[in-house]
Amino acid sequence: MGKPIMADDGQHRTDAAGEKVPLKRAERDLVALGILVAAIFLFIGTGSTVLTGIARSWIYGVGSPDVLLTNALILNIALLIFGWRRYAELQTEITQRRKAEENATRLACTDALTGCLNRRSLDDAIAKLVDDAAQNGDEVAVLMIDLDKFKRSNDLLGHKAGDAVLVETARRIETQMPARSIVARLGGDEFICAAIFTPGGESAIERLAVRINDALAEPIFSGVLRAEVTASIGIAVGSSGAVHSAAHVAQDLLHRADLAMYQAKRRGRNRFAWFEPSMEKELRFRSELEQGIRDGLKRGEFVPYYEKQIDLETGEITGFEMLARWLSPRHGIVSPDVFIPVAEEIGLIADLSEALITLALTDARAWDPRLTLSVNISPVQLRDPWFAQRLLKMLVAANFPPTRLEIEITETCLHENIAVVRSLITSLKNQGIRISLDDFGTGYSSLAQLRTLPFDRIKIDRSFVSTLARSADSASIVEAISSLGRGMALPITAEGIESTEVLSALRRFGKFKGQGYLYGQPASAAEVRRNLAEQGLLIGPLPDSAAPEIPSTRIA
Ligand code: C2E
Ligand code: CA
Ligand code: CA
Repeated sequence: MGKPIMADDGQHRTDAAGEKVPLKRAERDLVALGILVAAIFLFIGTGSTVLTGIARSWIYGVGSPDVLLTNALILNIALLIFGWRRYAELQTEITQRRKAEENATRLACTDALTGCLNRRSLDDAIAKLVDDAAQNGDEVAVLMIDLDKFKRSNDLLGHKAGDAVLVETARRIETQMPARSIVARLGGDEFICAAIFTPGGESAIERLAVRINDALAEPIFSGVLRAEVTASIGIAVGSSGAVHSAAHVAQDLLHRADLAMYQAKRRGRNRFAWFEPSMEKELRFRSELEQGIRDGLKRGEFVPYYEKQIDLETGEITGFEMLARWLSPRHGIVSPDVFIPVAEEIGLIADLSEALITLALTDARAWDPRLTLSVNISPVQLRDPWFAQRLLKMLVAANFPPTRLEIEITETCLHENIAVVRSLITSLKNQGIRISLDDFGTGYSSLAQLRTLPFDRIKIDRSFVSTLARSADSASIVEAISSLGRGMALPITAEGIESTEVLSALRRFGKFKGQGYLYGQPASAAEVRRNLAEQGLLIGPLPDSAAPEIPSTRIA
């Protein structure tokens, strides 16, 4: 292999093909150093002879210095200066490059907004912490921190204020962390922090979680805006033993802290929860449930059940509320309280609800035309701007008069985007559909909201009605709601009437429609049809819907 030939600029060399190619950094370093060393040797070699000559001629006036050697010395000094400068330049260049590389690595490992570690670097950082802890027989505690309702304050205050909240959150967490700890942001409003603790340090870890909870609950100011967020924290503790690698333990800790964080959310947010092994089981159950819902929807396992609605004055049936049931081959009859929230989370609620409404419209067409049909609508569906249009299409397809349909929306919907809810309610009402405010009394909706939204009815939540006869508090709430309804000319339905005592207590407060187990449990379409047929309230025979076999177990 031929030696590279250096070009005259000290930055390039000529390759075997005669091309000028840039020198690599190490090569350039070496060349500059070579020039410098050669210049130093030359200086020592020529310098002593020439300088002695010059000194002799000046001091003693004897002879004159060798001109050639003097010129060589001057050239040598120039070379020395050039070599030294080149070397110094290269050193500066190397330092700058090293800094740039360090900067790039730091940027790749950190979250641009908060400066914490990011998701990419987290696993390694925790694994390293686990390794470090193992040296002294210590443990690592991982805390998964998720801000509660951050999305809401982000939507309300804008993204700039949202960013300020995240930056301040990171700062507050960092302030609470002990030495030898890491703080990372996983994106969105999820943070992870981890620290080393001595075994049995549970109470110290809990104190840390409490301090973080308290620090984050303090209001955050961004300019004139004030944001209030709380956080839910999941905690997991572990150490690497002989069996598992630090990387494996790190993964496990993150997964467990995540499960515990969901538990903290479920327990009411703004708190911490420790990982417990039962959470794994719950997670497995949850993913089976999700798959079951997906499959069940395809296989038509979701069916409408109906609960009678009664005019309490006359005792006559005025209509039915449709209540979803899942006839699961695996779990039996499943309550909507179990599967509706899951269907909402996995984005299937609209499909599920529309499939049920289509079935219910067909069932209700066979009922006496005076009977109404009420359906429950999820807040998730209300966010869909095409919801009213899709509902109308279903009504047209089923040839069902909109005036017989009632939509029930819960008070919690009003906390969502009120402008969207208002425009949706208005367009539904324009088609003749009536709107009820469901579970009234549980969601703290304001009087102003009640006045500005054109509801046709309010339904008193069953928790107040069913305890009416034995609780003075419930009685006074029902009384207050009744007089509110009278004042606003809003008819009222009382749900959850379980006994004749409740019924007579209710009658004292005014005129109501009512529903509850006193009038029967929600029943299948076939049962309702039989029941209505007996009372002469069916307009014509309908083919029996092919209802799946109902298993006998039940989860609720
Ligand atoms: P909800 O709208 O308040 O429905 C009334 C619930 O109370 C029903 O429970 C019903 O079976 C129960 N209930 C009726 N009478 C009594 C009584 O006298 N005492 C007691 N303790 N309970 C009574 P279910 O069917 O389990 O429904 C639970 C919730 O699920 C419903 O509450 C509703 O919010 C939701 N839901 C049901 N079907 C659907 C649906 O198709 N779509 C949506 N989005 N939500 C639905
Ligand atoms: Ca309802
Ligand atoms: Ca209700």
